[in-house]
Amino acid sequence: MTKNTDICIVGAGPAGSTTALFLSKHGVSCTLIDRAVFPRDKICGESLDGYVIHTLKRLDPDLLKKLDGLVLENRRYTLVNSNSERVEVDFPSTATPRLLVRRIDFDNFLIQEVKKSESINFLEGTALKELNRIPNGWELQTEKGERLTCKLLIWAVGANSPLTTKLRIPKHRPKDEFLFVRGYYRNIATTETTPTVEIFFVKKPVPICCCLCPVGNGLTNVEIGINKLKAQKSQHNIRALLPEIIEQHPELKQRFKCATIEGSIKGTSIMLPSAWPQFSGDGFLLVGDTASSINPVTGYGVGHAMTQGRFAAEIAVQSLLNENTTADFLRQYDREIKKTMGREIMLGRVFTTVTGLIPVLDKLIALKWIQKFMRHLLADSNFAEKLMRPFAWALKRY
Ligand SMILES: Cc1cc2nc3c(=O)[nH]c(=O)nc-3n(C[C@H](O)[C@H](O)[C@H](O)COP(=O)(O)OP(=O)(O)OC[C@H]3O[C@@H](n4cnc5c(N)ncnc54)[C@H](O)[C@@H]3O)c2cc1C
Repeated sequence: MTKNTDICIVGAGPAGSTTALFLSKHGVSCTLIDRAVFPRDKICGESLDGYVIHTLKRLDPDLLKKLDGLVLENRRYTLVNSNSERVEVDFPSTATPRLLVRRIDFDNFLIQEVKKSESINFLEGTALKELNRIPNGWELQTEKGERLTCKLLIWAVGANSPLTTKLRIPKHRPKDEFLFVRGYYRNIATTETTPTVEIFFVKKPVPICCCLCPVGNGLTNVEIGINKLKAQKSQHNIRALLPEIIEQHPELKQRFKCATIEGSIKGTSIMLPSAWPQFSGDGFLLVGDTASSINPVTGYGVGHAMTQGRFAAEIAVQSLLNENTTADFLRQYDREIKKTMGREIMLGRVFTTVTGLIPVLDKLIALKWIQKFMRHLLADSNFAEKLMRPFAWALKRY
């Protein structure tokens, strides 16, 4: 039997679950599908920016209180270049803190809110297998053989779903694909007295950044990432690279002496946006990583995904009220994103094109003016917007 619904959201990560929660706040029901059963793991740097706090506040100010005990508040970044020169970036106490939290816990926190809502029909452990355009919307088929139709599709499947090709959005360039691995380590020695995210620029065996992010209960998320083509060219197995870097780096080697790894080193890949992303089309809205929500400069993506979820819910409500799901009507979603995070996306595009510059950045962070730049970039959530303001003319092309 085919079930009919007005709005179907596929993917219940931060993008999809936030969209569903905002729809529920607007009094609009929806079906939300995810192949995973929550809590589910997600490979991530696990440092969340101010957009997350602001979006949760808009959803329900009490949600922030519920996060107590689950997250660490972070107001310090440390960058260490390959000559062991350190740049401390402290956020003013008035700035919105970053949140350090395991994604398995944060995403499940959102899902628990989803499960409380009577207007969200949440199909957990349900993978979508087929997606087809039909005259008044979409027909979806799950792996279990269930059929659904909807008028408006909200696509929030993350970065790597093969079904995204069905939406006929422009493809990414192979050279924009990046590989990442993450290991959770316990008992890494530190002299820091507050939760601090540390980024090490490493020269050997390949120029790379190694990021340490404490996530509570004595655990630290340790992550590296590399352009896929570069990894293939240098013939490095990225999973083997992480322990190799720790072993070869003088400071890390000392600090990891008594550390133990929890579980295995896990890997993922993501396309970083080097072209202007498309956010909507005929009958659909793209939310989160499927619309390149990640900022390649800072690595933040969850806050953008949740903010896009808020916008998507607002446009979806309008679309139902006006009985209009055409690409023309839905394009107001693209305009909203461009207005709010357009300059940041532009900066991200520039960065993706020049990521080969990690060795240059490694040298540059010893310079005072670069340190000032990095301080602003990490501490001021509007800095990318301000920085790109003189280039606003370039945005008008899109
Ligand atoms: C290595 C790495 C480090 C990162 N570090 C950070 C960081 O420190 N801070 C930060 O803010 N962001 C970070 N990001 C970005 C962040 O992880 C993403 O921006 C964020 O997860 C986007 O959320 P999403 O809901 O779009 O996608 P996801 O969280 O990936 O959720 C997509 C959901 O869709 C479901 N799904 C997929 N296919 C199907 C299907 N066929 N049927 C049903 N369900 C399906 C999946 O099960 C999943 O639950 C990082 C990303 C990477 C790759």
